[in-house]
Amino acid sequence: MKSHVEEFLDSINDELKLSPSEKELLMHPVRSIIFPISVRMDSGEIKIFEAYRVQHNNALGPTKGGIRFHEEVTLEEVNTLAFLMSLKTSLSGLPFGGAKGGVKVDPKKLSKGELERLSRGYVRGLYPNLGPHKDIPAPDVNTTPEIMGWMLDEYETLLGESAPAVITGKPLALGGSRGRDVATALGGVYVLERMITLRNEKWLQDMTVVIQGFGNAGLNAAEILSKKGSRIIAVSDSSGAIVEKEYGLPVSVLIAGKKAGKSVTEMLSHGSLRNAQKISNEELLKIPCDVLVLAALGGQVTMQNVSQVKARIILELANAPITAEADTFLYKNDIYVIPDILANAGGVIVSYFEWVQNLYGYSWTKDEVFLKLQKQTTEVVGGIYEKGKNLRVCAYVKALKRILEAEQMRGRL
Ligand code: GLU
Repeated sequence: MKSHVEEFLDSINDELKLSPSEKELLMHPVRSIIFPISVRMDSGEIKIFEAYRVQHNNALGPTKGGIRFHEEVTLEEVNTLAFLMSLKTSLSGLPFGGAKGGVKVDPKKLSKGELERLSRGYVRGLYPNLGPHKDIPAPDVNTTPEIMGWMLDEYETLLGESAPAVITGKPLALGGSRGRDVATALGGVYVLERMITLRNEKWLQDMTVVIQGFGNAGLNAAEILSKKGSRIIAVSDSSGAIVEKEYGLPVSVLIAGKKAGKSVTEMLSHGSLRNAQKISNEELLKIPCDVLVLAALGGQVTMQNVSQVKARIILELANAPITAEADTFLYKNDIYVIPDILANAGGVIVSYFEWVQNLYGYSWTKDEVFLKLQKQTTEVVGGIYEKGKNLRVCAYVKALKRILEAEQMRGRL
């Protein structure tokens, strides 16, 4: 059976014919690490959690990418996501390769102390392979700035000196960058705005938006887009979805509820949501809208449900939320997809800004960070957009060419 990475590479074969050596090189990560993390639970028992780190390609620089805590994490998934990170950093012109990490765990079932011991265990298990010039982790699904802080502390304790650039997405007090928390969503909105201008679409203040996923990326996208005047008509999280087509959902109420630990469906009891209704995640994808923001997990739009998607534009804030076949279907049916390695690159771009600030002892203001992010995302879009072409294919080709050139210059190809 073909791996997802091979499927991705084959999907662009018409545009970029890879030689057998190039394909071989791209299909094999530089390093795949599987290790057990032993955690002393509050009950006194020891529990072992399986952990992964895949460093996919380092031709352009140290590998870079987040760590996710999820009970369905597998090595195959981390491998695919590490490959996508290599493409993402390359496409954005960053001096990084790509990596991804994961731990098979449901973090909601752990106490805070257990979560901290697990996070520190992750760094201990990986210590020789991490470093500001080797491999630089960051947050991903279910991992937070607080977790990055524990991981940094563990790394620096083992190293015996300060090394804030070893990890990004840290709390501000530990050298995190201003704006990193909203960077994924904000970068996505900058890309969306640029695409709308290039395609002469109707502008954001008139748009209806559906958001799948209400974690960091989805929540911030809702806030930014509603401030720009878009109507957020439906949102979902793991508890289900809520919809209010006529007036749109009251985003500030949803954000306050989420910050108080409520799921979106629990918020239906709030007075300002009296006209909203509960629907399933499947129904959410069928709602006609201008922009569908996919900000949950991978593999959400497949050949089983793609024909029911009624959006005009899809913004992939999650990684790989659409399968390769479903993506081709959407392209043929004129639904415009802004692919993950472009749409959600704001996160790793501001991670790069954080790394630079840490290495040089700078501290940039939020405005400086946002301005640099806007400039960088806008340039990337301008460099790949071609009227009528599948944007994912354009993005992959550009990203792969830069990696392959670096491989050639190193004499590895
Ligand atoms: N986890 C994020 C991503 O998938 C951010 C990675 C980073 O900042 O290194 O792009």
